[in-house]
Amino acid sequence: MTQPSRPAPVHAPMDQFPIANGELIVGGISLTRLAARVGQTPFYAYDRGLLDSRMAELRAALPPSIRIHYAIKANPMPALVSHMARLVDGLDVASAGEMRVALDAGCPPGAISFAGPGKRQTELRQAVAAGVLINLESFREARELAAISESTGWPARVAVRVNPDFELKSSGMKMGGGPKQFGVDAEQVPELLKEIGRMGLAFEGFHIFAGSQNLKSEAIIEAQQKTFDLALRLADHAPTPVLSVNLGGGFGIPYFPGETRLDLAPIGANLAEIASTASQRLPGAELVLELGRYLVGEAGIYVCRVIDRKVSRGQIFLITDGGMHHHLAASGNFGQVIRKNYPVAVGNRMDSSATETVSGVGPLCTPLDILAERTHLPQAAPGDWIVVFQSGAYGPTASPTNFLGHPPACEVLT
Ligand SMILES: *Cc1c(COP(=O)(O)O)cnc(C)c1O
Repeated sequence: MTQPSRPAPVHAPMDQFPIANGELIVGGISLTRLAARVGQTPFYAYDRGLLDSRMAELRAALPPSIRIHYAIKANPMPALVSHMARLVDGLDVASAGEMRVALDAGCPPGAISFAGPGKRQTELRQAVAAGVLINLESFREARELAAISESTGWPARVAVRVNPDFELKSSGMKMGGGPKQFGVDAEQVPELLKEIGRMGLAFEGFHIFAGSQNLKSEAIIEAQQKTFDLALRLADHAPTPVLSVNLGGGFGIPYFPGETRLDLAPIGANLAEIASTASQRLPGAELVLELGRYLVGEAGIYVCRVIDRKVSRGQIFLITDGGMHHHLAASGNFGQVIRKNYPVAVGNRMDSSATETVSGVGPLCTPLDILAERTHLPQAAPGDWIVVFQSGAYGPTASPTNFLGHPPACEVLT
């Protein structure tokens, strides 16, 4: 018996970039002209207009009292961080190096928070000197901070990063629930709060980040509700009133065939209820979301050039000057369990229809160096541009750039 054939899953439409004369337009510039301006391939290009419109969309969908922070590890390019600093309510950093980028971008220290397990004593000292909010991930960090604060006379602003007693369902990467290196287990938080009070640290609130890359609004709503309820329970043990509750983030973007864009409306509606409860139960506390890829991922492309085209036993290979050394995530080696293709296109043949099945690979001597495996593209030749969409987050800084000694990719904000 034959099964009725189901249509193959396709990528969400990449219609955020306009097309003119068969070319992709990035930041108002045609790809050929942009490539000439950059002067080299491969390069990453991030579109300011798309960063602006994503933020505007988010502000319109969420209650006005919700603070939006940008987690800069998603894309720490200094020019982009400066641009984002003007749009968001705060920046989240995960190292002293990222803290420097955030401060250089002009973000007020009061709006920076610093998370990450294993903060070294020097980093904690830098954070206290800067005056940023430190998300405590252990009892040791609390004690180190008390000593630093006592010896310098500078207050140590702290929030407790809580490892919740639940997980973010259907998320690409779980970062809370069960045994984790992140934060302090919810059960141990009352004891830590007592110590914070005794040591005289400047307690401000809670940080609860359950996971990342989630495309299901129901799962995000459930996690936000549980996060907020947990914060309410823990607030009873706080030494001083709670000033901020960071509800995490986890908003995903569609990378792979069959995935669709996140529906913000129900998330906004639920956050409005949470905000109204918060105004009663935690008066004066602000509610924060920290987002990385959702803010910047769809605004960026990676562009490389076809160097060679060859046929091996019937399969067509386009060999490009870019690959996994610049874009580990698109190669499928950044946390994916089963390799799937990112959306790709031939950036100077956007009007042509896909007529052949090809594999786009990079120049590295490893079979892991794949940009797109057996995908449908218009016929491409050496000199054409291969564009990888959804590349504004976790690009160069999340890739093994020195592997095999090819030149680095350039990054531009257009
Ligand atoms: C990585 C990380 C983020 C950003 O995650 P995205 O999936 O890019 O949104 C936010 N907060 C914390 C604590 C993180 O570790």
